[in-house]
Amino acid sequence: MPVAPPFMLTTGPVTAYPAVLNAMARPVLYDGHPAFQQFYRDVVGKVRQAMRSAALPVILQGDALLGLEAAAASLIGRRDVVLNLVSGVYGKGYGNWARRHGGEVIELEVPYDEAIDAEAVRRALLDRPDITIIAVCHHDTPSGTLNPLAEIGLLAREHGAFVIADAVSSFGGMDVHPDAAHVDVFVASAAKCLGATPGLTLIGINDRAWARIKANPDAPRVSFLSLLDWELASEPGRPFPVTPSLAEFHGLDAALDLYLAEGPEKVWQRHARTAAATRAGLAALGLRLWPKSEAIAAPSASVFRVPDGIEDKALRDTLLDRYGVLVSLGRGFTAGKVLRIGHMGPGAEPLLAVTAIAALGAALRRLGAKGDAGVAVDAALASLDGPSPAAVVHDVSREAVHAD
Ligand SMILES: *Cc1c(COP(=O)(O)O)cnc(C)c1O
Repeated sequence: MPVAPPFMLTTGPVTAYPAVLNAMARPVLYDGHPAFQQFYRDVVGKVRQAMRSAALPVILQGDALLGLEAAAASLIGRRDVVLNLVSGVYGKGYGNWARRHGGEVIELEVPYDEAIDAEAVRRALLDRPDITIIAVCHHDTPSGTLNPLAEIGLLAREHGAFVIADAVSSFGGMDVHPDAAHVDVFVASAAKCLGATPGLTLIGINDRAWARIKANPDAPRVSFLSLLDWELASEPGRPFPVTPSLAEFHGLDAALDLYLAEGPEKVWQRHARTAAATRAGLAALGLRLWPKSEAIAAPSASVFRVPDGIEDKALRDTLLDRYGVLVSLGRGFTAGKVLRIGHMGPGAEPLLAVTAIAALGAALRRLGAKGDAGVAVDAALASLDGPSPAAVVHDVSREAVHAD
């Protein structure tokens, strides 16, 4: 049996909470039986509570890429003009689905260490009044950067456009919710900040998005990419579209119980404090964050540039083999340039910042780089000693985006 490393500080998948793993061993329920139907309605209700949404969310059985593709297939039609906002690898990738399902796709792209500027979105909407849909990735994980989702959502609402947001690696780790951010289709994951296992996508869909999807002649039905198939799945007595992934649902149920019982604000604080302590340690080691300013760095991942003269994989392997700390490599454009320390779910535990920084300082020394592990550990600890940072809010102000 493969053994997980002692400290899995990855950016997804992440270590699942023990209570999640225990719940996955609960008995399989028959989907036609009322016990399952009640259980399923309860889980959907808990997702709604966590998402703070007025409408019932949908849970798709597949990891988050399924939900993102299904959102494109269901909401975007041939008559749509899509504004795809690109500040990183996932944002860029969304353009492929938008082009497959949409009429025209306009891209607004910034360097992958920066955030989308809401003012530029406003100008793009003025330029093209025929834009009907905006696609945006909230936290583009390969860069560790946050986009000003609520500002973009508000602009879209004023314009009359719909927003599809990828909140896969931010939801559950900070204050981001579909209704508050004016997001119409909000895609989240069980396997990142919620600390469940991979396999389920959580999608918040508001009433206006449902109406739009139903009116979209190109929206699929009887398909794994269909959202319509799931609209009524949580109503009593409705047959389930496919055989439910029971173990995953049980795990998600436990993850939601943990999230709601700990208190979302406390969970976000845990993410924010871990990130702040990690960044204090990184700075003390002389390492630079990949995001151009700390103000746009997400609380769920610290992405830093690998110092010159050191290979990313050598540093990753030293961290793992010598110290049992597993971090993520870069991805796409950031591959080879960065390493990523995840602060998600059980990994968002403040003292784990100290673990990561101690291991990183030691690994860098081993590879011949400068940097004093002791000083860096002290810096991380000092950050933990200080007042708790306010939980990071869902919005990134324009000033912050331009700050350096
Ligand atoms: C992880 C991630 C995804 C994909 O999620 P999977 O569960 O790997 O399919 C999509 N978007 C972002 C921003 C992510 O971090």
